[in-house]
Amino acid sequence: MRIVVVADVHANLDAFEAVLRHAAAGGAIDRVWSLGDLVGYGAQPSTCIARLREFEHVELAGNHDLAAAGEIGLAEFNTYAADAALWTASQLDDDEKAWIRGLPRVVIEQNVTLVHGSLRDPVWEYLLSESEAEAHLALQTTPYGLVGHTHFPAVIYEGDAAMRRILDGREVALEAERFVANPGSVGQPRDGDYRAAYAVLDTEARRFVFDRVDYDVAAARAKIVAAGLPTYLAERLARGR
Ligand code: ZN
Repeated sequence: MRIVVVADVHANLDAFEAVLRHAAAGGAIDRVWSLGDLVGYGAQPSTCIARLREFEHVELAGNHDLAAAGEIGLAEFNTYAADAALWTASQLDDDEKAWIRGLPRVVIEQNVTLVHGSLRDPVWEYLLSESEAEAHLALQTTPYGLVGHTHFPAVIYEGDAAMRRILDGREVALEAERFVANPGSVGQPRDGDYRAAYAVLDTEARRFVFDRVDYDVAAARAKIVAAGLPTYLAERLARGR
């Protein structure tokens, strides 16, 4: 089975479509796992939800999804994120908000634990340090785990002190070593590379392949500006920060 793994799409349909095209060029897409924050920041939340729902899929609840559905407050959001959440809430219909409210926080599929933030705090914790990763891995009952939320592609093996940045085309084999990995963000990368990040899990070949995909950033930026969202959210897409 070929499973496309995306995280932090953030309503950026241009980036999401480019990832799906790139993944489909490598073979049939059997499933899409989305690790949360499908909406928020970008200009096409409803279309991104509809596109994901065309596939057999998993979608986890991210902080931006829950904020847009009115499920959590905006106190912990910065101004840009709060403005975007209010705008997104005004765009989503009742069915989409109900779908978000029903999303799981943690899912186990194919021996892989999926969560947006971490197992200590599924919605909010940023898994950015080795100590945070160790705490997460101590709670992970499967050999492999996937998180999103940081917008930074990385893999951390249990017992290894290093958080390894994932570069373009990197393969991570499903072997004896336990790990937690982050595919990076489709719709708003923050590692200095503006290209959309994602991964494919091939369950027969027993490996993840992490990739980056060029997309029409100018189109995504123009839609953000046209929607009346904060222009900063358009600017940062070109910088990948
Ligand atoms: Zn995010």
